[in-house]
Amino acid sequence: MREITAGPRVLLRRLREMMAEALEPQERLDRIVREIAQNMVAEVCSLYILRADSVLELYATEGLNPTSVHLAQLRLGQGLVGSIAASARPLSLSDAQKHPAFAYLPETGEEIYHSFLGVPVLRAGRTLGVLVVQNQTRRQYREDEVEALETVAMVIAEMIATGDLARLNRAGIELDLRSSATLKGLCFNDGIGLGHVVLHEPRIVVTNLFNEDSDQELERLNEALSSLRLSIDDMLSRRDVAFEGEHRAVLEAYRMFANDRGWVRRLEEAVSNGLTAEAAVEKVQSDMRARMLHMTDPYLRERMSDFDDLANRLLRQLMGRGPDALSEIVPKDAIIVARSMGAAELLDYPRERLRGLVLEEATPTSHIVIVARALGVPTVGQVKGAVSMAENGDAVIADGEDGQVHLRPQADIEAAYKEKVRFRARRQRHYRELRDKPAMTKDGIAVDLLMNAGLAVDLPQLAQSGAAGIGLFRTELQFMVVSTFPRVEAQERLYRDVLDAADDKPVTFRTIDIGGDKVLPYFKGAQHEENPALGWRAIRLTLDRPALLRTQIRALLKAAGGRELRLMLPMITTVEEIHQARAIIDREVRHLSRFAYHLPTSLKLGAMVEVPALLWQLDELMQAVDFVSVGSNDLFQFVTATDRGNTRISDRFDPLSVHFLRLLRQIVHAGSEAGTPVTLCGELAGRPITAMALLGIGYRAISMAPAAIGPVKAMLCDLPLELLSERMDEALANGGTKTDIRAELKRFASEHDIPV
Ligand code: PEP
Ligand code: MG
Repeated sequence: MREITAGPRVLLRRLREMMAEALEPQERLDRIVREIAQNMVAEVCSLYILRADSVLELYATEGLNPTSVHLAQLRLGQGLVGSIAASARPLSLSDAQKHPAFAYLPETGEEIYHSFLGVPVLRAGRTLGVLVVQNQTRRQYREDEVEALETVAMVIAEMIATGDLARLNRAGIELDLRSSATLKGLCFNDGIGLGHVVLHEPRIVVTNLFNEDSDQELERLNEALSSLRLSIDDMLSRRDVAFEGEHRAVLEAYRMFANDRGWVRRLEEAVSNGLTAEAAVEKVQSDMRARMLHMTDPYLRERMSDFDDLANRLLRQLMGRGPDALSEIVPKDAIIVARSMGAAELLDYPRERLRGLVLEEATPTSHIVIVARALGVPTVGQVKGAVSMAENGDAVIADGEDGQVHLRPQADIEAAYKEKVRFRARRQRHYRELRDKPAMTKDGIAVDLLMNAGLAVDLPQLAQSGAAGIGLFRTELQFMVVSTFPRVEAQERLYRDVLDAADDKPVTFRTIDIGGDKVLPYFKGAQHEENPALGWRAIRLTLDRPALLRTQIRALLKAAGGRELRLMLPMITTVEEIHQARAIIDREVRHLSRFAYHLPTSLKLGAMVEVPALLWQLDELMQAVDFVSVGSNDLFQFVTATDRGNTRISDRFDPLSVHFLRLLRQIVHAGSEAGTPVTLCGELAGRPITAMALLGIGYRAISMAPAAIGPVKAMLCDLPLELLSERMDEALANGGTKTDIRAELKRFASEHDIPV
């Protein structure tokens, strides 16, 4: 067995020289493979490039039949080369022809070569091609040789990415890097966005690939690693983090990874092979990302993405950059692509330039999604691999209607979407025409269509949507999008703006509903909870921290001076909690009147029905409050024991089921008997079909996202409600719990030509 004569450093130096020379791309490639073969003492070195049609084409070879270049082809997954590309893992064999995946390509004349080493050419986790060396003898390639070939592959990846090879393509054939891709996700906010990718955390482009002196570079790497570890320790010891569940857990994981021997060793190896520290981080990160893309276990994926974040931090450290400024030039039609992001970060982008949002993570109730919905930005979530597949500036379509993302779409897809957007615009025009019409069913029954809001950015929607008022103002959103508790003045200002914008339309303010999935990172009192949804949240928290509630009530009372104030309490479990809250409110009223403040003309207090325990206190509840609003999101979560944020089970049970509708009907009946108005303000109110069911069981006021008002109103105007109510009564009485209510409703809608 022959040994390597020159190390990878020499090879990298030669490659650098070749990159700098003015050569035709094919010649450059030919020389590169020759150089690699020589350096690694291999008889063969070949480079296969992945085309957009999933075919790996031989682009250059030293040792195989030269006439097979650009002719020899393998499909992705076919043969050894195809398997390496598909799995994104290297493969080293001393007798390749014995391997079950071996596919013989007669035109190459490769039958005489036994040993085989192939590595994927990766960039940002994507496979762009495969680099192979072969020898006649049956030999084992050593670890350091695999490592060296991977390092070279990384340099080639950069060549492909910079478009150097594009000139070698035949007409009509494209490389996979620029190919279009359709990624599946979930609809988080309706709407279609056409535009260009803005990576929320732009990938740092490493331009300086080769080091001059490995020892010095190792020192640089180790220094950066030390400061990274120090900065994590520092964050962990900060008071506000020390007691935090989520934050702390993530940072603990980072600390563990920053000390991970395997990771550090791979980084060091790459530097010893001649890469700069930053190129080494990128190389190891790329391998990691590729593995992440092929991983199905959500826990492991999550851990891998922690590594990914950490690598980004390390890159920034090495390149002397803090977190990227958001003010980087954002195109006029930006589609933000992120793994996840904070709600406040989205607000930093100029709204008029936002066309869409694509998230690898998040759930429909995550803060970022709530804010995206408030801004009316089409949003697709849970899009695996979006960040590694997309490059800044790529054309992209975010389809929030079907939960799909089309990256670098082909012309026909783009044309189809442009048509779809035009169609939606026509529909929007129709909704706008409905705006000033009364919200009345076909048979003349009036319904209150209210909107949900929570931020100042929502307010213009009140006029634009034609809502009859704000049925749910989620006051916690103001707390969630900032980094410290908003002061009483800031709260008062927002509430006053809301009331001014509403003019004389009613606004129902809900007292802060934090805890559960709505975490305030700066709130010191919270502790890690096993079951946060069932934990210290909403009214439970504010009754225990009355100062918080008092401040908010004071701000609300002042803002509503001279007008009506409607206040609503979230997550009520017992009627007693309402009495306790009322005592705090009364005290504030007394306090303000003592100082001769201008008080609201009337104060209406309501409670949300979200906890099933209230269902057995309905009579007392209706007596204790002025109005009730059903929070169907939480109520459904608790009634069916189904975590509302868990996408794995989110489709398992249908709220349009006999049992849940019977229960919702019971609440609205209890309200009419007691003369207490009942509304519903969960997501159920916002889809025409579910809204139709709610009307059919007796609801006459529902509150929804502003964008839903148009479609729901269009449904309403064509709805013969008396007929539907009879149909629903029958279905809920006789149907048994197996009746498919959704199908019944669809049938009814099509019989009566109702747009649902
Ligand atoms: C609900 O639970 O249905 C609701 C409206 O409140 P939130 O979604 O804010 O928890
Ligand atoms: Mg709720």
